[in-house]
Amino acid sequence: MMAKCARCNVEIPNEDLYEDHGLKVCEDCKMKATQSPPESCATTNNMIK
Ligand SMILES: [Zn+2]
Repeated sequence: MMAKCARCNVEIPNEDLYEDHGLKVCEDCKMKATQSPPESCATTNNMIK
């Protein structure tokens, strides 16, 4: 089943949809919206430094 990103209108599978403040968005838009890097030890260590 396909859905559309509420921000950039790209077509994405439902399973790749993320919710951001009630909007269904793609992974790219979700990451831009949150501005937080994905959890990883390396990234976290770099942030703390
Ligand atoms: Zn998008």
